[in-house]
Amino acid sequence: RADVAMYHAKASGRDRLCFFDEEMARAVRRRAELERDLVKAVETGQFVLYYQLQVRGPSWPVGAEALIRWPHPERGLISPAEFIPLAEETGLIVPLGWWILENACRQLVAWERKAETAGLTLSVNVSARQFYQPDFVERVLEILEKTEADPRRLKLELTESTLASDLGGIIDKMRVLKQRGIGFALDDFGTGYSSLGYLKRLPLDELKIDQSFVRDVLTDPNDAAIARTIVALAESLGLQVIAEGVETPEQWKFLAELGCPAYQGYYFARPLPIEQFEETLRQMLAPASSDGQGTVKFE
Ligand code: C2E
Ligand code: MG
Ligand code: MG
Ligand code: MG
Repeated sequence: RADVAMYHAKASGRDRLCFFDEEMARAVRRRAELERDLVKAVETGQFVLYYQLQVRGPSWPVGAEALIRWPHPERGLISPAEFIPLAEETGLIVPLGWWILENACRQLVAWERKAETAGLTLSVNVSARQFYQPDFVERVLEILEKTEADPRRLKLELTESTLASDLGGIIDKMRVLKQRGIGFALDDFGTGYSSLGYLKRLPLDELKIDQSFVRDVLTDPNDAAIARTIVALAESLGLQVIAEGVETPEQWKFLAELGCPAYQGYYFARPLPIEQFEETLRQMLAPASSDGQGTVKFE
């Protein structure tokens, strides 16, 4: 981007070059400030976890994904799309990642004690940089022990890029954690470069169909074909499958018809602070709002 801006700026004369320089300087400054604030935020735990419901139908909750939010004291809520990449570059993602996992595990323990949340799984995003820490497995086990969370309720979400190198080492780490009951989901599936050979060897539990295939699934036959193929692939490999980014009842029904059994998206629930998440769940489980079958069940 910066290179393109410079090129256009030079081509159109000195004034514009100055303009772009200033703009870039501003971007660099904002980044530096954000980095400084991020260090402080990690030190003081200035983050909150939001929870987004995962369902097998409109009144059939099965789990949630923990999604981090940064309520910046001056700038308001900053999206992870903005600060996670910065946290990854600076290495701050490692301590932040442990904070996220520990808090997610504490939430799982609290959920087990309440009728409407007992049995839900909780998916936690893990960055490559955190996963590649030599003590990753030990730290995860330590947090499980300390919080007394049930590992069978915990799912770790990895992306294809995380799984792109040192397959043997990755598999070893996953195996140890899987033996304790932890599940693994492959996030944003279909957007990376993982080969089918990789997929066959990795001890995964779930594929998450990326939202880019869900967005136009009704109108783009290629997206529909990809979604259908991912569902079939998951089935034949014995994996669970969930579609991300389901925003409309039409998308949901279409996905259901092509065989996708589980969904996550704004249509069912947005990522919400814990109180609102639990309230949404209570409403969903109330008899009046059940989907006509009269019963609501967990997986
Ligand atoms: P992701 O793990 O693929 O999470 C799904 C993203 O899609 C979330 O964005 C969620 O809010 C958004 N989403 C959910 N349903 C819909 C929908 O129906 N429509 C649309 N348009 N979007 C939907 P969010 O929370 O902004 O997070 C963005 C990314 O940041 C995540 O993508 C993940 O890669 C990263 N991230 C978020 N929380 C964490 C975290 O705790 N740790 C790490 N390492 N990364 C995180
Ligand atoms: Mg995710
Ligand atoms: Mg995703
Ligand atoms: Mg993503």
